[in-house]
Amino acid sequence: MEESSKRIESIASIPTLLPDWFRKNARVLPWRRDKDPYHVWLSEIMLQQTRVEAVISYYERFLTAAPDILALSELEDEKLMKLWEGLGYYSRARNLKKAAQKIMTEFGGVFPTTYENIRSLPGVGPYTAGAIASICFELPCPAVDGNVLRVFTRLTADGANTDEPQTKKRIEQALIPIYRQGLCSNLTQGLMELGACVCVPNGEPKCGVCPLNGTCMAHAAGNERDYPVKEKKKARKTVNKLVLVLIGDGRITLRQRAASGLLAGLWEFPNRDFPSPEEIHENAAGAFAAALGAKPTELQRKTTYTHVFTHVEWRMTAFCFSCSSLPKSLPAFTLTDIEREHALPSAFRPFLDFSKDLL
Ligand code: SF4
Repeated sequence: MEESSKRIESIASIPTLLPDWFRKNARVLPWRRDKDPYHVWLSEIMLQQTRVEAVISYYERFLTAAPDILALSELEDEKLMKLWEGLGYYSRARNLKKAAQKIMTEFGGVFPTTYENIRSLPGVGPYTAGAIASICFELPCPAVDGNVLRVFTRLTADGANTDEPQTKKRIEQALIPIYRQGLCSNLTQGLMELGACVCVPNGEPKCGVCPLNGTCMAHAAGNERDYPVKEKKKARKTVNKLVLVLIGDGRITLRQRAASGLLAGLWEFPNRDFPSPEEIHENAAGAFAAALGAKPTELQRKTTYTHVFTHVEWRMTAFCFSCSSLPKSLPAFTLTDIEREHALPSAFRPFLDFSKDLL
């Protein structure tokens, strides 16, 4: 059989085999309890860049604080950031609230039901719009993310560069004809589930239990891991940071990050960048503390931690000082204040944990 006929056959096997497999094998997840678009939307936004296991507790906590779109649209920013603390990519949370406000003002408080209107919401790209439209409203809108790209390119032995936007577009188009009425929700979820649990990204795919193994071209050729083809990643930039944990009178000094850019508006320990790690030492830390207006009395602890973002890596060395006086120009909080009200991103969290017992 010619390659192109094999591809057609492979794609045609998806609606025949996958929805049934999904019905029998779907993991029980809280956002699958119903098809409420608010629930599906929230879970899809949280699941971007974050593992399912990590999302579950965030999802439940978020819904308790904001059980519906109206509550989300009225959520205070500081509370929103606190609910998102540790999940990263905080613009996702800001866009959720903006989108909720748009639903309240432009759609009468009712989640939009067409692909175009769903796509018009802040933070909702083609993937998320397709997921909501197909899962909640049975619309023929494929949702193509990394999982689906992997399944599709292996199934059809497609060697195109999946980092190219046109490859994604082409694969979306190729999937539309199989999205038949009554199957849309389970096709989207089945493709996602297969990519997450069977046709896995790291390690060997579990082809032995895959419902598509009879028509999968990469499996037939035994070269499953040659797909998907991606561009070589550029090396991440490295930034060396000196971090100050200043403690005095049961409080700890924090400062708020700028309103735009990485970790915008979140809280952090005072820190500054240095060209090389050799320049980061106790004297430099003491000088930085003094420049901020603190009076450090004793270096209690020193620790290092590297936090990896998508494009940059922060190599941090933290110095924890007890102080007779904290900087007047920066706010200081008790541990309870921080835990209840101020969102401290994961990049800085280890320094709070390592100095907690000194507070
Ligand atoms: S047979 Fe293997 S490579 Fe092909 S789709 Fe299934 S898990 Fe992926």
